[in-house]
Amino acid sequence: GIAEILKPAGSPGNAIREYDNLLAQMKATQLAHRTQYNRNARLDDLERLRKAMLAHETQITEACERDFRKPASEVKLTEIFPVLQEIRHAKRHLRQWMKPRRASLTLSMVGTRARVRPEAKGVCLIIAPWNYPVNLSLAPLVSAIAAGNSVVIKPSELTPHTSGVIADIVREVFSPLHVAVVQGGIETSQSLLEQPFDHIFFTGSPAVGKVVMAAAARNLSSVTLELGGKSPTIVGPGANMRKAVQSIVWGKFANNGQTCIAPDHVYVHSSIAQEFEHAVITEICRVYGNDNRNLKANPDYCRIVNARHFKRLHALVKDARTKGGEIAFGGEFDSSENYISPTVLRGMNPDMDIAEKELFGPLLPLIPFDNLDDVIARINSQPKPLALYIFEKDRGLIDRVIANTSTGGIGINVTVAQFLHPNLPFGGVNNSGIGAAHGEYGFRSFSHERAILEDRFSILSWLYPPYTPRVRRLIDL
Ligand code: NAD
Repeated sequence: GIAEILKPAGSPGNAIREYDNLLAQMKATQLAHRTQYNRNARLDDLERLRKAMLAHETQITEACERDFRKPASEVKLTEIFPVLQEIRHAKRHLRQWMKPRRASLTLSMVGTRARVRPEAKGVCLIIAPWNYPVNLSLAPLVSAIAAGNSVVIKPSELTPHTSGVIADIVREVFSPLHVAVVQGGIETSQSLLEQPFDHIFFTGSPAVGKVVMAAAARNLSSVTLELGGKSPTIVGPGANMRKAVQSIVWGKFANNGQTCIAPDHVYVHSSIAQEFEHAVITEICRVYGNDNRNLKANPDYCRIVNARHFKRLHALVKDARTKGGEIAFGGEFDSSENYISPTVLRGMNPDMDIAEKELFGPLLPLIPFDNLDDVIARINSQPKPLALYIFEKDRGLIDRVIANTSTGGIGINVTVAQFLHPNLPFGGVNNSGIGAAHGEYGFRSFSHERAILEDRFSILSWLYPPYTPRVRRLIDL
């Protein structure tokens, strides 16, 4: 039965057969419901999802606390609010998004009528990471439902309590053949990826993104890949210092730096580098506390998700120190609770691991620069980032950076908040991702734009053979 299917996977062999069954059943109902899952039915589902999220707010908050001591206020702001906003936005605009669009007529197509009809892709797979476990499972679900799909969600195994609550919410709102949550780790994920889903929406690391895209290729499933990488920040000589440090400290240390669009490292103009370092440290102390004991007890400061990531970050700092890097502030590690204090580093050079790897933790390397072209060249020598941040008043400098780089998105005098704008596409480019999420862009990712052409006056038959001189003249534009 379906209850069995939705349990965490057993052996891989069994798992594949079970998913086969699940997918086949979902596909059967998808086709049957294709005509019935109209706008009102989708709006009802979105409203019920909204209510279920509100009803489970306490469970979500507790689960995030248990999984990685995520502060309640951050859960509200970064897990619950963005999903509710997606729902509200989708409900408001669904009529517009679903409307078939007329394709305007061209000379050669006189006598025809053409339109583009957004249609559900079918049965979609959403694979989510652990760092914003609720947000990155349920916000794509909103887009998928708005577009009329059936969905399998595979949340992360690293946040098991939160994944459990996600499963509870989904079970309450949807029939299991419409939306199913399958819990499990890499093996489960790979078994699911064997299946011919109509679309795969993956959020996670570039390395696993390649695994997902290779698996998708075997079934020619379309993909949206929301990946990560190193998002650089440039603080120019004309930056508003207060604004810059406030936004960078928030973007970096919220969720303990485990944010795909967190400012990874900061290039700061050497004329203000010292002042900036001082201001960053002052801001950290103002926000989180000024000694390690205060900081550890601060309920607003999250933890690293597990011992493996804790060790990874510890090794990054050790590597930097042995290669001439210095800790300007912080650098406290406590493995008993995966605690790392907000850490500011200076003296980064290209030989260090922190110069190459996505940091994904509360480490902030500051790199002074004199020449903006060097910074641009450095950014362009690395894989295309998900985000780029510029703090500066001079329009010319801002425009130069925009024109000479390629990244998923850009924040000017602000970090991270581009994620929250419902009318902006959220996504990367190449190594940082393929396709986009949020609002209408999310709806389109989960839709097939079907081209429909209708001949009204049999005018096109003029083009058919035999190819008389008249036909040849006609196509000789
Ligand atoms: P991850 O890639 O390790 O895991 C993501 C998901 O893939 C999990 O559900 C996991 O079970 C599954 N998975 C892991 N290895 C797999 C494999 N070999 N085959 C098939 N499935 C596999 O990522 P993570 O550690 O959970 O998240 C951190 C990464 O995600 C960072 O790189 C971060 O930048 C990125 N990220 C991107 C966004 C975005 O919106 N662009 C958002 C959050 C995180």
